[in-house]
Amino acid sequence: MPCYRCGARQTDPVRGASPWKRGVRRESQVLICPDCQRLHDLDLDSCRTCGSTALICRLGEVECRGCGAVRMARARAFAGSGAPPGLSAEVEAALNRVLGRA
Ligand SMILES: [Zn+2]
Ligand SMILES: [Zn+2]
Repeated sequence: MPCYRCGARQTDPVRGASPWKRGVRRESQVLICPDCQRLHDLDLDSCRTCGSTALICRLGEVECRGCGAVRMARARAFAGSGAPPGLSAEVEAALNRVLGRA
């Protein structure tokens, strides 16, 4: 998987841990190269409990590696069911306005 931001390909480190960082952005797992990690506008999802961006996204859940909090990944849950509920509610409200039911 390349760096989500600049598209650089990950190269295996000669030894030791990879300097690449895992993160979650818009509820999908991404990798960030060492260069992009220095930027402050990475736009990564953060944990609602502790604010950490060290998250893992898997099987429709986002898990925080900092505090262990797990939450459902909304985008994944919607993937199979068409429009997200928030959108259909907006559409319904707009229809109600048009039809004078609001
Ligand atoms: Zn990068
Ligand atoms: Zn956390």
